[in-house]
Amino acid sequence: MHYDVIIIGGGPAGATAATYLAKAGKSVLILEKEHFPRFHIGESLLPYNMPIFEEMGVMPALQEADFMTKKGGRFSLAKGDQENAITFAEGVFTEVGEAIQVERSIFDKILLDHARDSGAEVKEGWTVDSYTISDKDGVSVIASSEHEETFSASFLLDASGLVNFTANREKLRQYYPHLQKVAIYGHFTGVDFTDREQQLNETHIACFGDSWFWIIPFSEKKVSIGLVLDREDLKESDLNPEELFQQAADSSPSLTQMMKNSARIGPIRVTSDYSYSNEKLIGPRLMRIGDAVGFIDPVFSSGVYLACVTARDAVAALVEALDSNQCLSPAMRRYEKQTCKSLSRYREVIELFYQRSFIEILLQPDGKWQWPCAINAILAGRLDLPWALRWRFRTFLWFARLHHRFGLVKRLDFG
Ligand SMILES: Cc1cc2nc3c(=O)[nH]c(=O)nc-3n(C[C@H](O)[C@H](O)[C@H](O)COP(=O)(O)OP(=O)(O)OC[C@H]3O[C@@H](n4cnc5c(N)ncnc54)[C@H](O)[C@@H]3O)c2cc1C
Repeated sequence: MHYDVIIIGGGPAGATAATYLAKAGKSVLILEKEHFPRFHIGESLLPYNMPIFEEMGVMPALQEADFMTKKGGRFSLAKGDQENAITFAEGVFTEVGEAIQVERSIFDKILLDHARDSGAEVKEGWTVDSYTISDKDGVSVIASSEHEETFSASFLLDASGLVNFTANREKLRQYYPHLQKVAIYGHFTGVDFTDREQQLNETHIACFGDSWFWIIPFSEKKVSIGLVLDREDLKESDLNPEELFQQAADSSPSLTQMMKNSARIGPIRVTSDYSYSNEKLIGPRLMRIGDAVGFIDPVFSSGVYLACVTARDAVAALVEALDSNQCLSPAMRRYEKQTCKSLSRYREVIELFYQRSFIEILLQPDGKWQWPCAINAILAGRLDLPWALRWRFRTFLWFARLHHRFGLVKRLDFG
């Protein structure tokens, strides 16, 4: 059987792309090395992801799963003396006011099952080992399960996540030198919130020294808590990751308060080397989507959203290329350009977050020029920026950079 498209990986990017392709009447095969449900990190989603789920037709299944509603984000100092909560629905430039916080094993399975129900063929427990691409003959993929098999298609979509399958083979991966971070995280029950009703529906970022914690409640009883720190700090420490996590939590008054009656469910996990970009996102008969495009940092919870956006946009280009029998089309080049632009916008804000200027301005807002509303829209995932939003966002970035150098608002003590 010859497919229109073979997709490596059945995470959010692969499942979204397969759904869009199947709905466009294309034959598509997903090869996924794991059997779902499987653990994955990345539980906090963005509001602008919701219209994509609507378009995919997966909303009824997501509603049935009864995921936790996410109404906003809370930024604080882990010392507990300063914080600011952003409510998406209150942002004048934010058109979508709510998202969800999900247990990824359940969420990813819903998306993959939906791709299958939409007409995609899905093979779980199949690892892609190698591929060859020829302009004339198309794509040939060798994958193995209990036995090895060769599959052929007109196009290959790489949705392999941080494995970065095709770009690694082409030696395209470049790590961001200033984002050499490591994340240490686990799931907890019995977490206390001072304002339970509001905080259950928020993703909370608590800054602590040069590090930060995420606190993501994804059900009434289960909360994902993670610590992100410089990889060097872990290397230089005498403590193992679990001890380091505990030490950081114990020395942060707000985390100590939250976790005093909590118990961990499952192991503490560690992920590093996740911040990178690939020089190229497309090639003849090949496109990359999701984390296989590159991943910057978890702080603004943009990973799943960008996985779905890149999947949707890549499919639009792919369908055109398939219909016009081209192996590298202008629409594919436009996809590459647009995706790099969206990623670079997130990168700019993430860099300011680690310079602390973003958080120092956010925690001492004076409402100037509606900057908080502009930030609200960016954090919700708005990617098309009308002029009224664009100039506010640009001046905010400019002010934050000046603040970093000259201290335009009060410097805060991060503990
Ligand atoms: C510490 C951390 C915290 C994060 N927190 C958030 C968050 O709060 N919110 C958020 O939106 N994002 C978050 N992210 C990012 C998020 O996890 C990813 O952006 C998202 O999962 C990307 O989806 P994907 O489909 O591209 O990749 P994945 O979800 O990783 O899926 C890739 C799939 O490909 C499969 N695969 C890989 N290689 C092969 C192969 N050779 N053959 C067959 N199958 C293969 C894998 O098994 C996997 O199922 C976080 C990331 C990190 C590192």
